[in-house]
Amino acid sequence: MKKFFVGSLFVIILYFMLFNQASAEGYTSRIGGEDRFDVAANVAKSGWSSANTVIIANYKAYADALAAAPLAYKYDAPILLTQPNVLTSTTKNEIVRLNAKSVIVVGGSGSVSDQVVSQLKSLGVSVERISGNNRFEVANNIAMKIGKSSKVVLAYGLNFPDALAIAPYAARNGFPILLTNNDAIPQSTKNLVHNWNVSQTIIVGGEGSVSKNVFNSVPNPHRIGGKNRFEVAANIASKYFSTQSESIVATGMTFADALTGSVLAAKTNKPILLTSSTSIPNETKNAIMNNGFESFTILGGIGSVSTGVANDLKVLGGGLVIVIDPGHGGSDPGASGYGEVEKELVLDISKRLEKRLVNSNYGVLMTRTDDTYPTLDERVKLANESGANAFVSIHVNAFTSSSAHGTETFWNATNASSDSKLLAEEIQKQLVAALGTYNRGVNGKQGFKVIKDTEIPSVLVEVAFVSNPNEAQLLSDPAFRQKAADAIYNGIINYFNKQ
Ligand SMILES: [Zn+2]
Repeated sequence: MKKFFVGSLFVIILYFMLFNQASAEGYTSRIGGEDRFDVAANVAKSGWSSANTVIIANYKAYADALAAAPLAYKYDAPILLTQPNVLTSTTKNEIVRLNAKSVIVVGGSGSVSDQVVSQLKSLGVSVERISGNNRFEVANNIAMKIGKSSKVVLAYGLNFPDALAIAPYAARNGFPILLTNNDAIPQSTKNLVHNWNVSQTIIVGGEGSVSKNVFNSVPNPHRIGGKNRFEVAANIASKYFSTQSESIVATGMTFADALTGSVLAAKTNKPILLTSSTSIPNETKNAIMNNGFESFTILGGIGSVSTGVANDLKVLGGGLVIVIDPGHGGSDPGASGYGEVEKELVLDISKRLEKRLVNSNYGVLMTRTDDTYPTLDERVKLANESGANAFVSIHVNAFTSSSAHGTETFWNATNASSDSKLLAEEIQKQLVAALGTYNRGVNGKQGFKVIKDTEIPSVLVEVAFVSNPNEAQLLSDPAFRQKAADAIYNGIINYFNKQ
């Protein structure tokens, strides 16, 4: 009995070790929101249960806020956003939740109005404004508030990506971020560097952002360059965060998410990598692979960073991705019987399966998500270009005789044959057990295009017969379709665990 217990315990521990390892690689989470105010509040929620100080910036005026992250880090303060003339209600609620005692507003009254300051004060918080005649002076005044430093960062002040990408590193080290024009450093900034007797300057961005001229005019400069914003962020990540396994990913096209995420990145010691909304730039991909970043926190909703990018991150991080192929669709209804249509049934089962997999942090690519017909070639192409770990095509069966019934799973020996066979066996086993259907077995002799031409482990599942009255009735029941999805899910998981 005792021996059994110890043995079981060992198996359980081993299972959790494997399970946890599998979930760390390619683990992605998303801090989303309906708009940038909401994203900022959700960033605050994920990093702070309470905060004495909060930083507030205008939701559109990145210029004032570019240098704010090191200040925010110093005060362990989240950065929230507001409209210029009214304190945005999401932000107001978050200040209350954080139980903040003081607010630092960055920017002049043209950026965050006195009216907003009054609204803040009415919440019972003290308000301090850091402003300046222009963005350069605002940055200088933020730097003064952070305190004298012998090392400073100098970034291009007329765009946002470089300053935000360096923010986590600058913040953690207490280096203020100063701003410059491309070809000439503003006099006020020059004065500050001189007065502080700065001994080292980190220049962020290529010469298109910060010219040689500026480079040569500051003490002991060191440049972290790059040919575009993605490469600059990638180079920062490689230089300062290569020992980390986690990274924050934000859109490089708008500033808000990266700004509000920058202090969270600093707090959690993660780099910020930038992406476009629908594909990961090569510079970012290379940084992920070269530094071995395995898990990612995505900032922003799917409009900012798409589900496709999230899936690609999972693949790059070494996570597992499954292509789900709901059979037929659009002009091709597939089989039908007793009022049930295959294309509708299999899309429903596929979406249930997708949900299970996504909830367990697997990456999922769908060949279709609505009533359209991707050609078989398109489905195969998606699978072969996906870098995914498995392909599951979902169908229901039909035969001329209504007596034919049961569950069957097909695989093909052309590519990845032993894996395809194992995947088919695991799914088939689970389906038959869960649905109580007749076991027609696994079949490796059919040359269906989507399992023959796909180069990754691939199967085609025939859940039950829509041409059989009993099974058509079962298929019409959402609870039955959920059971089918759960069974396919379990089969996929068991397959991965046996590999
Ligand atoms: Zn079919």
